[in-house]
Amino acid sequence: MTATIIDGKTIAAELRKRVAADVARVKRDHDLVPGLAVVLVGHDPASEVYVRSKHTQTQAAGMASFEHRLPDDVAQGELLALIATLNADPAVHGILVQLPLPKSLDTETIINAIDPMKDVDGLHPHNAGRLAGGLPALSPCTPLGCIILTKTVRPSLDGLNAIVIGRSNLVGRPLVQLLLNENATVTIAHSRSRDLARLCAQADLVYAAVGRPEMVRGDWIKPGAVVIDVGINRMPGDDGRTRLVGDVAFAEAREVAGAITPVPGGVGQMTVACLLVNTLRAACAIAGLPKPAV
Ligand code: NDP
Repeated sequence: MTATIIDGKTIAAELRKRVAADVARVKRDHDLVPGLAVVLVGHDPASEVYVRSKHTQTQAAGMASFEHRLPDDVAQGELLALIATLNADPAVHGILVQLPLPKSLDTETIINAIDPMKDVDGLHPHNAGRLAGGLPALSPCTPLGCIILTKTVRPSLDGLNAIVIGRSNLVGRPLVQLLLNENATVTIAHSRSRDLARLCAQADLVYAAVGRPEMVRGDWIKPGAVVIDVGINRMPGDDGRTRLVGDVAFAEAREVAGAITPVPGGVGQMTVACLLVNTLRAACAIAGLPKPAV
């Protein structure tokens, strides 16, 4: 059996189209233009690529995009002052501070300064706490994307066994909460977990968010399982150019899994699309409008 390839590129494009239609609706009916502010500190090449892509896609969805670039050596007080300005700006409904930040800045303090209503990355403890409590919250974009991708092949996750490998605040932990909300039975694994292969073999749904190239092997996968590969690892290719590799050994796993996401072209595509969803949701919530359909 060869797995169905979950085409993140197409699924993300469809999601962006639905967001754009809803943005047009709130503009027409409520004179509301959702706005996203992205703050980039320094010149990390990967972050530059993400920020550019966020800017282009925000504008393409009909939203306002505000970009703020600050030098590597910006003082923490200056960044906090910018966040306070964005918190107070009625044209801004979503604020995203691109991570990682330079070591001279305290990431926790910066994230905590964002108005939770505008926290479209879902990293503020207010949103993380609400998500953990099963309450409506702005959730981190990558885990949201993982759930949407899974549901394209398994519309109901009710009662399924899921394993999440990785427990970061950005991916693993919020993903566990979203899976619980979908009534899956969840195991969360990390660097201290024992016998990962055996834990994985019991899972109907496998989420790999580790940052280790091709760590999850084909013979760890239960036949027919859905495999969602969050990993983005930059490796030197044979031609000297960088190639992207996931946390799952794709060629092996696709022979066993029922469905699998490729890298690139899987989860990565969904993250920005879900950021647009969160910005639209934040704009509607701030304006006191009902939650949008997307
Ligand atoms: P972190 O480095 O913050 O977390 C990695 C997690 O993996 C940790 O919980 C760590 O465990 C666990 N881990 C490390 N080694 C092992 C091991 N040998 N066995 C089991 N678990 C292990 O990474 P992120 O969560 O931020 O990102 C994970 C991956 O996803 C990266 O490749 C990143 O590039 C990618 N990513 C992709 C995104 C997308 O849009 N597609 C968005 C965000 C991330 P412990 O806690 O014990 O240290």
